[in-house]
Amino acid sequence: MQEFIDQLPKLAKDKHNENKKFFTKLKKKPPKKLDQMMQELHDDEFGTTDCLQCANCCKTTGPLFTDRDVDRIAKFLKIKPRKFEEHYLRTDEEGDLVLQQTPCTFLGVDNYCAIYEVRPKACREYPHTDRKKFQQITNLTLKNVAICPAAYHIVEKMKAKLPI
Ligand code: SF4
Ligand code: SF4
Repeated sequence: MQEFIDQLPKLAKDKHNENKKFFTKLKKKPPKKLDQMMQELHDDEFGTTDCLQCANCCKTTGPLFTDRDVDRIAKFLKIKPRKFEEHYLRTDEEGDLVLQQTPCTFLGVDNYCAIYEVRPKACREYPHTDRKKFQQITNLTLKNVAICPAAYHIVEKMKAKLPI
């Protein structure tokens, strides 16, 4: 798995133009059963991909934290939301609350998440490949294929299934 993760940035770069063209067409004319197809591709991929062997999202990119995430995680850690923000988060250039550092502070050496039950919504939903109206997040997906092996495979399978 690690060997493939190391190759991902280059593989994604090589596929960038092809993926961009494909997503432009997908956005113009999304197939009727796209939601169902994405759910199937997602379930199929995550049936075999073991995130515990990877954790590349937690190592290289951080989630956004909503106020609800902050409240829930602070409660779990038994600290005040304000303290949690001061200790772990910063406001980025776009005004979003993000981690102060990557790899994520909550990631263990065994790739387990120390706050898994209460992790941010963005972590729960990453890489968003089962999202409804997937055509609306293709710009994000173009970036995610360089980080997430599962997202990379799903996009490759999409292109094979939908020769548009
Ligand atoms: S979601 Fe993707 S990047 Fe994150 S651990 Fe799973 S396979 Fe790896
Ligand atoms: S909170 Fe947990 S799931 Fe989210 S980035 Fe950190 S270690 Fe990964």
